[in-house]
Amino acid sequence: MTGCLFCKVASGEIAATVVKRADGLLAFQDINPQAPTHLLVIPTVHIASLKDATDDTLLGRMLGFARDLAREVGIAERGYRIVVNTNADGGQTVFHLHLHLLGGRAMRWPPG
Ligand code: AMP
Ligand code: ZN
Repeated sequence: MTGCLFCKVASGEIAATVVKRADGLLAFQDINPQAPTHLLVIPTVHIASLKDATDDTLLGRMLGFARDLAREVGIAERGYRIVVNTNADGGQTVFHLHLHLLGGRAMRWPPG
């Protein structure tokens, strides 16, 4: 979608440190990491938020992709957190669906 930050990352118009790409999905480093490992997983097609997602197969593939990615970057055994901030109360700031994959430190609960 024109003007969407993560559509521009997906197309290469905005540079990002890409760590994995497959089947219409892309993972790249978050520009403002909140953990030693902080990666974002996006579909290359524009979907504004989880609320707006209608393709449950795609959502399942995003989770599987994140699971594989966690193993590949070496955080799977110690553990990790996957976050999907959704709309205003969820704290979403970029309106292109993304999973946060956070690891490399112990996470706290409850989240802020
Ligand atoms: P959210 O608040 O869940 O919408 O998350 C948006 C995330 O995108 C934040 O963690 C930002 O640090 C991250 N972000 C914003 N711009 C960029 C960018 N150009 N490259 C990588 N990550 C970004
Ligand atoms: Zn987009």
